[in-house]
Amino acid sequence: MKNITFNQLQLRILALLFILFMSAVFSYRYFVELPKLEASMVKLSERELSTLTSSIGSSLDILSRTNYDYAVWTSSYDFMLTKDNEYLEENFLENTFTSLKVDGFFYLDEYFRPVYTKGFHHTKLTDLTFSFYDFKKNPGNLKILPAPTIKNEVPFKNGFINTIYGPAMYSATQIRDTSMNGENRGYLIIIYLLEQYFVENMSKNTQVNVKFLNNEVDTYIMEPDDWKYQKHLQEVKQYTDIGLYDENEGLVTVLRLQYSEGILPKLINAQSLIFIFLMSIFIYIMHVLISNFIIKPVKGFALDIKKQNSCDAFAPLDEKHSVRELVIVAKNINQLIATVQRQNEILAMQTITDPLTGIMNKRGLMKEIELHCDLLIRENIGFTLVMADIDYFKSYNDSEGHLEGDLALNEVARVLNDECKRSGDICARYGGEEFTLIFSSMSDADLNKKLNDVMSAMKNLSRNHPCSPISEHITISMGAASVKPSDVVDFKVSVNDILKVADNGLYQAKNTGRNRFVINSLSEKSL
Ligand code: GH3
Ligand code: MG
Ligand code: MG
Repeated sequence: MKNITFNQLQLRILALLFILFMSAVFSYRYFVELPKLEASMVKLSERELSTLTSSIGSSLDILSRTNYDYAVWTSSYDFMLTKDNEYLEENFLENTFTSLKVDGFFYLDEYFRPVYTKGFHHTKLTDLTFSFYDFKKNPGNLKILPAPTIKNEVPFKNGFINTIYGPAMYSATQIRDTSMNGENRGYLIIIYLLEQYFVENMSKNTQVNVKFLNNEVDTYIMEPDDWKYQKHLQEVKQYTDIGLYDENEGLVTVLRLQYSEGILPKLINAQSLIFIFLMSIFIYIMHVLISNFIIKPVKGFALDIKKQNSCDAFAPLDEKHSVRELVIVAKNINQLIATVQRQNEILAMQTITDPLTGIMNKRGLMKEIELHCDLLIRENIGFTLVMADIDYFKSYNDSEGHLEGDLALNEVARVLNDECKRSGDICARYGGEEFTLIFSSMSDADLNKKLNDVMSAMKNLSRNHPCSPISEHITISMGAASVKPSDVVDFKVSVNDILKVADNGLYQAKNTGRNRFVINSLSEKSL
């Protein structure tokens, strides 16, 4: 598996978190919030639409009521017979139009012949000459009239019609006596022109935004919705066009209802952006916190361990960390280091210790010789190297056996080691039955005395050597090389020379009867 850094891991986790949060928020907005909003906006639009259509209906009702008041009135009924001018003069003054807010009164007899017609613009106060009621010319317009009756009822019709002055609202009622009886005496039609003030009033009264689409109607391609039918919107729209049709289903005019909430909010709005911004800050703070409180300490810790690795001597790791787990790891590593150190020391001791006798072996000895040579060169401290060899040991082995031989080696080693009393004195097993002693900075007399002491100690050991031709007990011969500061040439002194001088002394001791010692100086070059 490809390994990644702690930092990469945390960045990936944070990125994942960010994506998760974002998708949760946008999913919620897309699947829950927006559909809810859309439904409520559609509802609001439908309400605005029905407000407008009922307002159009109310306008027609008002016109019809006025129409009814004049048509179902005995004076009007009588007028159709008498054609009495007085009736006209009393009832059709200019302010009749302005106060009723209508633009035309048309009395037609039962044969659709005009009896009295008057067009008067109720805001511009100008005469208007309409011709829509000329049914010979416009037979289609006959449909605006209700079917006459002689029953006790008032037939009427209302709707929209195109006139030479533009679209208009009309109401037509059969003229009846106040008792709603009697013969059919014709019809009263009232006209109300649909001009700018109409939509302005409608907008004002209904609180919805309405406008005429007259100018655009020529290029109109979509069929506008008939205002009469109840409409259900399927989706959020910016507007709905409402068509006002005449009795022949011809388009009179189009009203455009502009919805107050016509545009669905976008998926990402200002709130979403603020949320993304806050989320980013949150993620950034998380990143900083994780970096400072976890990654940095871990990195520092790893660096500490690396440093320890490159050092020869192990030092305990710092156990003070902000993260508790790191404290535990540091403690455990320190314990491990201590154990490894202990084992290293044991191993180091083992590498320089002779397993049979427990004293220093040749490897340790060679280091010690080097050390004494260094001291000699740097500090002018002389030393004596003594080679000791057990006499006739082969025959001891042969007669007593190797196990006894080993015990003898051990005892000799202990005796020799006991004679190395000063801290710098060394006793080592050079190999086989040969031992090496080092005494630092010792005068010739002291050396002589020391070697005599060794000989006495060997005597005191009194381990029997049945086959030795020279003594009843085990004896040793020694050759000493006395090394002095004057032996240093060019800051050098040869270890091999020292060993050779000591060996020569040993050889001399052996050759001159054994159980004795010979001291030679390195300077005498008695090689
Ligand atoms: P010399 O007086 O000339 O030194 O005679 P030597 O017999 O002591 O010398 P030699 O070199 O002929 O024999 C050394 C003997 O030391 C041979 C060997 O059996 C014995 N030896 C060496 N190492 C050990 C050991 O670890 N254990 C035992 N038991 N004997 C050993
Ligand atoms: Mg030997
Ligand atoms: Mg020997």
